[in-house]
Amino acid sequence: MSYYDILIVGAGHAGAQAAIALRQMGFDGSVGMIGDEKDPPYERPPLSKEYFAGDKGFDRLLIRPAAFWAERNIAMLLGRRVRSVDPVGRFVTVGDEEIGYGKLIWCTGGSPRMLTCKGADAHNVHAVRRRDDVDAMMAKLDSVTHVTIIGGGYIGLEAAAVLSKLGKQVVLLEAQDRVLARVAGEDLSRFYEGEHRAHGVDRRTGAQIDHIDATDGRATAVLMQDGERIDTDMIIVGIGIIPETGPLIAAGAAGGNGVDVDEYCRTSLPDIYAVGDCASHANRFAGGAQMRLESVQNANDQAKVAVAHIMEKPAAYDAVPWFWSNQYDLKLQTVGISAGFDQTILRGDPASRSFSIVYLKGGKVIALDCVNAVKDYVQGRAHVVAAATLDPAQLADASIPLKEVGLG
Ligand code: FAD
Repeated sequence: MSYYDILIVGAGHAGAQAAIALRQMGFDGSVGMIGDEKDPPYERPPLSKEYFAGDKGFDRLLIRPAAFWAERNIAMLLGRRVRSVDPVGRFVTVGDEEIGYGKLIWCTGGSPRMLTCKGADAHNVHAVRRRDDVDAMMAKLDSVTHVTIIGGGYIGLEAAAVLSKLGKQVVLLEAQDRVLARVAGEDLSRFYEGEHRAHGVDRRTGAQIDHIDATDGRATAVLMQDGERIDTDMIIVGIGIIPETGPLIAAGAAGGNGVDVDEYCRTSLPDIYAVGDCASHANRFAGGAQMRLESVQNANDQAKVAVAHIMEKPAAYDAVPWFWSNQYDLKLQTVGISAGFDQTILRGDPASRSFSIVYLKGGKVIALDCVNAVKDYVQGRAHVVAAATLDPAQLADASIPLKEVGLG
């Protein structure tokens, strides 16, 4: 049986950062990283942005050059999938092979949630999670005119922006009454709906899908519950992910929506950490609520927390959440977690396409969404960290820099 002092499962953002942090902190034991994709760790966000648009080649997505891992003596076991974990014998199973570990860092992200209706398994129904997903779509795009995107979250909206810029006819179907309903307030949703409409995207909210019509395994139309038929050449599904936690939960780890971790990213199993999209943790910026965060920030920061604990320099996870989304010429930057807000304050005019929304709860700043407003994003961060109570009139005055807004 091969053995690694630290075995990382999942070669994505969190796995890469964990390996990098181990060597940066001077860990000199053996490190192995198992990943079921064929490529070394790469950035996932461009998959629905610059890479999909053809503006950035795959080499520029690599988190580190391919040679980096061997230079740091990190064994990359790619194209292999862990199917079980034995926390007593301290080994994982990959195919018929057992690989032993001293400590395990579980960084497996999630798999795209797919539709379950009739026709959902047609070969031109795509997810956007992995390089392979996007390569498969890009290979077909020349023969595609009509694309139906299911899901009005960030990934669906970013894909809509890319495809409409490429001249495709895009219909975007969102089941809720507004896009981005899960992650943002109504002002931001309405702004992005307007932008997509202005770019020719046929955006439908409250859209209930009945099934997909397919001929010879190829989807030809989406049939709505109200009887409408939307003819299509390609379908993209962006309706969230299911955390990849099966082997850990089967091994006895506590969890439900993700694997439960404590403030040091420890699971309930001995010497097993979980990090990134798959890790359910209590987040101070959500009032201590248990949650999974799907962001590069969370993957990187949790990886550092797990490694610091392994290196016996524990520092509890307390990083302020941040995220971004690029659509058309709009750069959205968010800081904090807006869920649970009871008031919003608009800074600037959305019509100018540069503005911010400040989210408050009980008078305290809990989050900001900043559209083409980098200064607000940078300066607002400290207010989120401090949960500051600020003067609402000054907050609403975009001519006053956020760092100069007085206490309320
Ligand atoms: P991942 O990066 O998904 O890595 C997990 C890896 O583990 C994958 O390679 C997976 O195949 C592998 N794996 C799973 N199970 C096993 C197993 N049993 N054995 C071996 N390997 C396994 N975040 C932002 O902050 N900003 C953005 O703009 C943004 N845009 C995004 C756009 C897209 C299209 C997508 C898909 C995500 C985006 N995200 C964005 C989210 C961000 O990419 C994720 O939060 C981040 O990748 C999480 O890192 P992770 O390491 O937890 O998971």
